[in-house]
Amino acid sequence: MAEGSWYDADIARVIISEDEIREKTDELAKQVAADYGDTEGLLLVCVLKGAAMFMADFARALGRYGPPAELEFMAVSSYGEGTTSSGVVRILKDLDRDIAGHKVLVVEDIVDSGLTLSWLLKYLESRSAASVEVVALFRKPEAVKVNIPVRYVGFEIPNEFVVGYGLDYAERYREVPYVGVLKPEVYTRG
Ligand code: 5GP
Repeated sequence: MAEGSWYDADIARVIISEDEIREKTDELAKQVAADYGDTEGLLLVCVLKGAAMFMADFARALGRYGPPAELEFMAVSSYGEGTTSSGVVRILKDLDRDIAGHKVLVVEDIVDSGLTLSWLLKYLESRSAASVEVVALFRKPEAVKVNIPVRYVGFEIPNEFVVGYGLDYAERYREVPYVGVLKPEVYTRG
């Protein structure tokens, strides 16, 4: 970890370190490569912005072991109150291509209530993908209650609000290279 970065003072606790993320990403890429073998036309679908870091690192790791893949990005907004998602989703940026007949792997940052993901899976299936699976770097305990088929999971993390590695608080902390919990005073600074 770089010494003296501006954000270090705001982080109460590191939950998952940069090294752990790198190792796990490599492990997940090997698992996916083993399962997808010589699949043609594999599409990685990332939902912005939270999963951007994981998509960039996962795609490069998969490139070392797996079949060629295309990268697709979507942006959605979920209607609902502040920090909880409602499952009602509006598409801000759609896929750039037709996915009919393609194997799709959704690259997710974190699954919490699973509502957004559940909507996304239905949407991708309605566009006639040959298969839709999910790789998520983090999963919270709530997600285990809902029946979302997340085939590949990096880390099970506690039910706390985390930031870093793409995950934000009020659009900040996405560039933090590890995942951690903010100090309480950060929320009351205003
Ligand atoms: P879900 O629909 O599963 O409740 O929410 C999924 C999305 O909410 C994630 O893709 C992520 O962007 C956001 N999210 C869920 N938990 C956290 C968290 O602990 N920290 C941050 N920054 N975002 C989260």
